[in-house]
Amino acid sequence: MLIEEVRENVVELVEKLNFAEKVDRSLKLIEQAYKEFGSSLVVANSLGKDSVAVWHLAKRVSPEIRGFIVTTRFKPPETKRFMVEEVARYPELRVFSNDEEIPDKLYETDPDRCCEILKVKPIRDAVKEMGVKCWVTGLRCTEGRTRTGFKEIEERDEGLLKLNPILIWYEREVWEYLALNNVHVNPLYGKGYRSLGCGPCTKIAQGADERAGRWIGTSKCGGECGIHTKPLLNYQT
Ligand code: SF4
Repeated sequence: MLIEEVRENVVELVEKLNFAEKVDRSLKLIEQAYKEFGSSLVVANSLGKDSVAVWHLAKRVSPEIRGFIVTTRFKPPETKRFMVEEVARYPELRVFSNDEEIPDKLYETDPDRCCEILKVKPIRDAVKEMGVKCWVTGLRCTEGRTRTGFKEIEERDEGLLKLNPILIWYEREVWEYLALNNVHVNPLYGKGYRSLGCGPCTKIAQGADERAGRWIGTSKCGGECGIHTKPLLNYQT
């Protein structure tokens, strides 16, 4: 598979490929990128179902692959506990956060700013400190309205590739993969959540849009925290 080929829009493959073909494609994408980038390929892990699926795929490619978790003071206790368990299982996962003071309830008054400080900044720190040239994410184009325009390989910042190896997977295929491989998952899914984030900004929601429970009641509803949309290397604060 040529890198140039996967830069093209592959949305038609969502329906065309079956589960096994998608798993195979994802493994090949990670394998190729790992061959090219070696230890500067790093997996981002949000502790959600998509991240743990990608992390498992990456570990099949090489147990040496490193990862990072970005956490915030507002993550639910279940996610914090799951993070401790995951780091104990995989010490090569580094944890990044930003503990600077922010205005009270910034997530209500200015959620974009809150995400910028608590999520985007620590990701920028992770990219810098870990010498990342290619970061791997669990982003999927079937997740909701804001995720349809992404590609399997993107270069939002010059010199930093982003690989989205399960871009074309359906939600049910993620669960299929996790079940078949006995992957540990965040216990919040057992309560009915379908997309996980910080406590004040995440609700249980039904319907076609998997991310509909994120930032309900704000202009950001069902939207993005910014890690997939903002520059991580070439930015101005
Ligand atoms: S998800 Fe909510 S609480 Fe978490 S960083 Fe974004 S706005 Fe703040």
